Amino acid sequence: MEGHGTPEHEAAAALKSIARNEKIKARLMTDPFLKGILLRAASRFVCGEEMPEALEAAKKANGLGHAATIDYMGESTRDEALAERATEEFVRVAKEIKTRGLDSSISLDLSHVGMALDADFAFENASKIARAAREAGTEVMVSMEGTERTDEILSLHERLSESFEEVGITLQAYLHRTESDLAAALERPGRIRLVKGAFEEPESAALPRDSTDLDEAYRRHMETLLASGHTLSIATHDETILDHAHEFIRENGLEASNAEFEMLYGITPERLEAMRERGCRTRVYLVYGEEWYLYLCHRLAEHPPNIYRAVASLGSLRDLTPS
Ligand SMILES: Cc1cc2nc3c(=O)[nH]c(=O)nc-3n(C[C@H](O)[C@H](O)[C@H](O)COP(=O)(O)OP(=O)(O)OC[C@H]3O[C@@H](n4cnc5c(N)ncnc54)[C@H](O)[C@@H]3O)c2cc1C
Repeated sequence: MEGHGTPEHEAAAALKSIARNEKIKARLMTDPFLKGILLRAASRFVCGEEMPEALEAAKKANGLGHAATIDYMGESTRDEALAERATEEFVRVAKEIKTRGLDSSISLDLSHVGMALDADFAFENASKIARAAREAGTEVMVSMEGTERTDEILSLHERLSESFEEVGITLQAYLHRTESDLAAALERPGRIRLVKGAFEEPESAALPRDSTDLDEAYRRHMETLLASGHTLSIATHDETILDHAHEFIRENGLEASNAEFEMLYGITPERLEAMRERGCRTRVYLVYGEEWYLYLCHRLAEHPPNIYRAVASLGSLRDLTPS
C-alpha cells in the first residue's frame, strides 16, 4: 500500500480514531474557543447549521447546472425523540425542495433516524421520508456507514425498495464484500452510489484507502454498473477515475445512460464543472446541521493537506482569541 507509515497516513489514521472518541469530541465542542476553530475549518465543507443555508446552496448549485442532494448531518442517534426529530427535519427538507422547485434529492444515514435503536423504528422513519420524497418527485439516497452496520443497512434498503423505487443505496468500493453486495443491489430498483469508503476498517474487511488495488476495485465496480444500465452515481473526486469513466461511457455509447457524477460540497468544484462541460449529469452533496464534527474529521483525514489548510486558517483567528 502506498503511503502506509508516512506521517500523512499516521495523521489520517489518528484523526479517524479521534473522530470516534466521544470524550475528545465533548472536550472540543464545549470549549467555545476550540469549537470556533473547528467551525471555521468545517465551513469549507458544510453549508451551515440551519436548513435555509443548505436550500440556498442547492439553489446556487442548480443555477450552475448541477443537481444537489441535501443531508441533514447526524448518525448513531440513541434517543428515540431525537431520531423522530431528525425524521421530521428530513420530511421538511423534502417539502421545501418541492415548494422551491429545487433539483435536489435527500441523503441520510439510517442510524440518524433510529437504526441504532431498532430496525423497525428506522424502517418506519425512513419510509416517512421516502414518502415525502416521492411527493416532492425526488429520491432518497441511503449512505453507507462502518462495517458493523453494513448488513443492517443493506437489509433495511432491501425492505425499503419493496415499496419505494426512489430509495437508493451507497456501496463502498474498498470493502471486499462489495462484489456480491453490488450484484444484489443491481436486482433492486433505486440508484446505486459508488464511493471509495471513508471509515477506518481492518484489512480483513477492506482494501487500504491509498492503494492501487482500491482504484482498480472502484473502476471494476463502476464498469459493471455503467454496463448494467442501472441508475447510478459515480461519487468520487479522483481525476483518473473520472477520466476513465468518461472514456468508458464514450467508447460504449452510454451517453444516454442513467449515470451521474457526484461530489462533496467544497471539494474540487472545478472537476464537477469539467464533468458538466463534458455533457454529464452532475450533483453536489450538501450537508448542514449541528453534527458536523465527525464529517469534518473524515474530510480532513481523507486528504491530509486539508489539515495544513485548517492550521493555516488559525492565522485569521484574532477575533476568537479570548481576551
Ligand atoms: C456524494 C458522495 C457521497 C459519499 N457517501 C459516503 C458514504 O455513504 N459512506 C462512505 O463511507 N463514504 C462516502 N463518501 C466519501 C468517500 O467514501 C470518500 O471518502 C471521498 O469521496 C474521497 O474519496 P475520493 O473517491 O474522492 O478519492 P480520493 O483518492 O480520496 O481523492 C481523490 C482526489 O480528490 C481530492 N479530494 C478527495 N477528498 C478530498 C478532501 N476531503 N479534501 C480535498 N480534496 C479531496 C484530492 O484531489 C484527491 O487527490 C461519499 C463521497 C461522495 C462524493
